[in-house]
Amino acid sequence: MKIPFFNLERQYEQLREEIEPAVLSLLRSTSYIGGKAVNQFEKELADYLGVKYVISCGNGTDALYIALKSLGISEGDEVITTPFTFFATAEAIAQTGATPVFADIDPETLNLSVDSIEEKITDRTKAILPVHIFGLPAEMDAVNLIAKKNGLYVIEDACQAIGAEYKGKKAGALGDLACFSFYPTKNLGAFGDGGMIATNDEELAKVCTAIKSHASGKTGAEAYMVLHPQEGQDEMIVNESFDVLYDPYKYYNYFIGQNSRLDAVQATVLSKKLNYLNQYNSNRRLIADRYTEALKELPIQVPRISYEDKVSCFHQYVILSDEKEELVEYLSESGIGTGAFYPVPLHLQKAFKYLDYKEGSLPIVEKVCKQSVCLPIFPELYENEVEYIIEKIKAFYTERR
Ligand SMILES: *Cc1c(COP(=O)(O)O)cnc(C)c1O
Repeated sequence: MKIPFFNLERQYEQLREEIEPAVLSLLRSTSYIGGKAVNQFEKELADYLGVKYVISCGNGTDALYIALKSLGISEGDEVITTPFTFFATAEAIAQTGATPVFADIDPETLNLSVDSIEEKITDRTKAILPVHIFGLPAEMDAVNLIAKKNGLYVIEDACQAIGAEYKGKKAGALGDLACFSFYPTKNLGAFGDGGMIATNDEELAKVCTAIKSHASGKTGAEAYMVLHPQEGQDEMIVNESFDVLYDPYKYYNYFIGQNSRLDAVQATVLSKKLNYLNQYNSNRRLIADRYTEALKELPIQVPRISYEDKVSCFHQYVILSDEKEELVEYLSESGIGTGAFYPVPLHLQKAFKYLDYKEGSLPIVEKVCKQSVCLPIFPELYENEVEYIIEKIKAFYTERR
């Protein structure tokens, strides 16, 4: 048997009859940027997550950067985050000029350890950026409490956690702002790049909307007023000596933003796929459940399936093994693809060498990185494939005994 780590073809085949005509009709409409498809998708997502505002953008990395910028985070500030995540989480912090501060992780959930966050707070700390790693929500009540006590913002990196739940609420509705990615292999994947920011805060929504679109027009003016409440309405008309025929705002830009848009083709695809997201996530949970049940007696750490307060959407299924290399090789020889999220903790990445972390400074994550093996988990994985993977992992440990 040959089982790839990931397979997008099966899902495409299942949806092609529905998605291809929708995309064709969008192409013929020539509304490629913005318009009905994007507005409608934003509304559907806001309903799905149970948040007031959803601001779509170009990708998950931009979503993180825009969210951080909307809080005024910049040089001299510190943002506490996890070293066990995709590089973009900390990259976005560094892009604002702020310093990513890495705290250690919890050895069971692999999310930020709450105790370790508190130790890292200084008078420069502006925000905490927890990641719901592999789809399991972080300890958000504790994170929010620490934030409240210390006057900090909370941004969720929910790029891997669309559809996950914490105490009955969706991931993405648990902090001040939340960021999502629609990269093709995420639980809700586009046919290209895409991302979004979710928030319940009207002012932050305005600022994010302005940042992603050159801070221009009425949105730019409104965002400017949010950011500079002491300045009067009059100052919004930038220069009366330039005639503005149609719209007193349209050709004005109020601060430096960027261009980050979800295009209408992606919004069309995502709208269709959103209808299946719950089904996809529940398939993933069934597979995870089966893996954990079958593998829990082996000398490895397997993900816990049920928590009282959290429901994972199992973006990844990650086991921790002391024989990582041998296991990966054995599975590969058996035709089974695996992933290695994440082999290098971010505090030891070359890109963050300037932060001067030493090996041994965050011991739990350093150990986990040497042990983590991701098994295939995607909604269209067949039952007999899951059983084959289980059989091979068991065989590996039997042979070694
Ligand atoms: C995928 C991902 C991102 C980045 O998203 P892109 O759309 O690829 O820019 C950020 N953080 C985490 C945790 C991710 O998994």
